[in-house]
Amino acid sequence: MTPDTGRPTTVTLRLPGSAPPPCPRCRAPVLLVARHPHSWHNRSGARVEGLRESVLCGDCDAGDPAAEGLLAVVSAVLAEAGDGADAPAAVASEALASGAFAAHLETWLTAVRHRAPDPAALAAEEARWRAGEL
Ligand SMILES: [Zn+2]
Repeated sequence: MTPDTGRPTTVTLRLPGSAPPPCPRCRAPVLLVARHPHSWHNRSGARVEGLRESVLCGDCDAGDPAAEGLLAVVSAVLAEAGDGADAPAAVASEALASGAFAAHLETWLTAVRHRAPDPAALAAEEARWRAGEL
């Protein structure tokens, strides 16, 4: 068995239904937002604990092998639940409790947790933040 290092302990998910946030890459509404523990070491070497949000975008993540399974599950849930703001929560919660969803979520989170930010995307996001768009 492999060690659990780097594995999220608590993940908060938010599915669309009430104003999903825009994708930071393409600005389309995201399919899922995962808030998960994230830590790093500062310049003095101390470990800093925090939270990180990762978004799953149907367009931007379509070619990502780590997101493939999760995209399929989430897309199926959303298709079954309908695209209205009052999509049946029971359908979504049943699918989200499935082992397949949990396995795909962990695969995706493991991949995104180890990705470094793209300096160009970071600069663009900072520009948007300074312009008051975020
Ligand atoms: Zn996107």
